[in-house]
Amino acid sequence: MTGKDRRFPLPLSSVVEKPAKSARSQTVASMKVATPQTATKNAAQNVAQQAVRPRPVEPAAERPRAAAAPVAARAEPMVSGTVRAAMVARVAKQGVKDAKVLAALEAVPRHLFVEPALASQAYIDASLPIGHHQTISQPYIVARMIEVMRANSNGGALNKVLEIGTGCGYQAAVLSLVAKEVYSIERIKPLHELAKSNLRPLRIANIRLQYGDGMLGLAQAAPFDGIILAAAGLEVPQALLEQLAIGGRLVAPVGARHQVLQLIERVGKFEWTNTTLEDCHFVPLRPGVV
Ligand code: SAH
Repeated sequence: MTGKDRRFPLPLSSVVEKPAKSARSQTVASMKVATPQTATKNAAQNVAQQAVRPRPVEPAAERPRAAAAPVAARAEPMVSGTVRAAMVARVAKQGVKDAKVLAALEAVPRHLFVEPALASQAYIDASLPIGHHQTISQPYIVARMIEVMRANSNGGALNKVLEIGTGCGYQAAVLSLVAKEVYSIERIKPLHELAKSNLRPLRIANIRLQYGDGMLGLAQAAPFDGIILAAAGLEVPQALLEQLAIGGRLVAPVGARHQVLQLIERVGKFEWTNTTLEDCHFVPLRPGVV
């Protein structure tokens, strides 16, 4: 863990466990990546299979340590610290190298951002439905985008960052561990409210949630050292390019059915460079609010 993580108050840090080595190597091969489309279907199937099972117990790390957990509880899939470490190991194996990003991913309890029926799937590397036809992003892509944003000429220092598409608030929580201030905009009111209630118990002091159309950015807080779009447009909105600080990095999925991750760097007052990174799959960026 880095010094920055200490900015998180106890409820978050209390769920952080050192990864168990065996769990790290286990997992990895057996997991499949889901797209937003398949996520809903998979989740529905898994929920159906799971319906007869008892609800997952609280993660072991959150239970009092005094008594040894009963065998049944220890066998639960929701021993979140260990399971999360395994998820992070898989993300690292897929190529994410930035230790600070991996540590942030390991610190955020993703299971608290999905509905309880899906909590046992929170640490597979897949997007999952969060309602309103939207998804919580796949951990790999969350980590990858933040890694790319951090690879700036400032050694990764980020003062203000902006996220477009708060959804359930998961990526905002991860971002709060790598940036001084995080602004996140969501256009669907109930999701904006959901993110608020997901983030409230974590008491993260450096996130500002905004209900609005992220395609317009957030002029009153600009310029941003980094901007991440969690939804794909046919192009990156001009307002966002203009709200990027010189030297800042914007990472966005671009495209319709075929999408690519793009890195845009602002190299001067009137100059931006554009690099295409890899294929990806996101929900669409839409104008206006609902
Ligand atoms: N960041 C989320 C991912 C949410 S999915 C996570 O941590 O998992 C993408 C979100 O972008 C959806 O909630 C969608 O409603 C939102 N979105 C799409 N277009 C938007 C816009 N113009 N402004 C703000 N949010 C937008």
